[in-house]
Amino acid sequence: MPPSLPNSTAQRDIETLIHPYTNLKVHQDTGPLVISRGEGVRVFGEDGTPYIEAMAGLWCTSLGWSEKRLVTAATEAMSRLPFYHSFTHKVPDVTVDLAERLLALAPVKMGKVFFANSGSEAVDTALKLVWYINNARGKPLKKKVIAREKAYHGVTIASASLTGLPACQNDFDLPIPGVLRTGCPHYYRFGQEGESEQEFATRRADELEQLILSEGPDTIAAMFAEPVMGAGGVIVPPATYFEKIQAVLKKYDILLIADEVICGFGRTGNMWGSQTYDLKPDMMTMAKALSSAYMPISALMVSDEIFADMVKQSEKLGVFGHGYTYGGHPVACAVALETLKIYEERDIVSTVQDISPAFQTGLAAFKSHPLVGEVRGVGLVAAVELVKNKTTRESFDPKLGVGMKCAKFLQNNGVIGRAMGDSLAFSPPLIISRDEIAEMLAGFAKALDQTLEWLQ
Ligand code: PLP
Repeated sequence: MPPSLPNSTAQRDIETLIHPYTNLKVHQDTGPLVISRGEGVRVFGEDGTPYIEAMAGLWCTSLGWSEKRLVTAATEAMSRLPFYHSFTHKVPDVTVDLAERLLALAPVKMGKVFFANSGSEAVDTALKLVWYINNARGKPLKKKVIAREKAYHGVTIASASLTGLPACQNDFDLPIPGVLRTGCPHYYRFGQEGESEQEFATRRADELEQLILSEGPDTIAAMFAEPVMGAGGVIVPPATYFEKIQAVLKKYDILLIADEVICGFGRTGNMWGSQTYDLKPDMMTMAKALSSAYMPISALMVSDEIFADMVKQSEKLGVFGHGYTYGGHPVACAVALETLKIYEERDIVSTVQDISPAFQTGLAAFKSHPLVGEVRGVGLVAAVELVKNKTTRESFDPKLGVGMKCAKFLQNNGVIGRAMGDSLAFSPPLIISRDEIAEMLAGFAKALDQTLEWLQ
């Protein structure tokens, strides 16, 4: 429906904005849903229509939209020290406080923290450090990196090259050279007839080893992996997958970089996805729930060994020549620090563990719906995959846009979810209540039936 009023926000949006992750042509006709305020787990349209934000925005607004303590932390930090940087031996005090807090929270012993402003920047930094330290280690040929089909690691030139979704690369002249692709661990889609989850995991690990051997282990430096793949469709790793993958990486001296941008800070029912799936990363990226998304901030943690090589190399070169103007911004750090305090005081991990059965079993009940092929998830993140044929698992023709249609029905029913292909993702604020989950599920039940009716 095109925006009706000539001077409406929607019309002005069409005339002025380039929208990320949007079909720009369709947007010219439909315009945006304009959101003007938030409260609890809800956001409100310009006309006052409430929506349960069942994606926490972009998997990020973990504490919902009414956390006044974060507003206070931001305003106090803004009046005390609205900006300072960490270049050339200087630093805001609060940036140090946050680094210390994050190191104490790390799932494995980490050495140091580097701050950036977005997940993509943290991933880019990780890739640059992989190259930097292998130069320090006298291994200038050990530079290729591995990422998976359907991975999502961001949209900058390097992080989009690691991302394994065609839309992020096609016609952007990506990926850059040196990025190798290995198979997606989605058992429902790629498991073979009669193959158990464990056998599928073994096959994926064997494929990884073959890739490493065919390229030459001495040319491969690192593998990037999200504990649960988010934007690729909420793909939960099959049993034994990370155990087997990590054994292969270890055998060939390849670093593991856990991309915790979605999974970090409670989403999977532990503080880190790395704890849920027993990853032992050498570096970790994080963002989103680090500040409940109230301020843009991301971080990269690196092991002591990696930091030691960075020191060596910067001594040789005279400077560690990398850093963002706003990295470690005092206002963002103050908000992140307060967010972490709230997680601790309210025991956010236990909160997620208490509420997630209602969320997961509620969604699992849709398995009996004629359109639903698979329901997958862990903690407070899940996806429901719609299929044309439940027996053969045949997908719909992508041109039909079944997932998008279902998401639209869902939105009209007062719930914002996200279609990723024909999978509908849910990743609500971690503070969602049982009643709000019930409301979300009711909106989705109706949307599924509306989609079925539309298809007939
Ligand atoms: N890594 C993962 C796992 C993500 O989900 C995202 C964003 O959704 C990113 C990296 C990129 O983060 P940003 O959008 O802040 O650049």
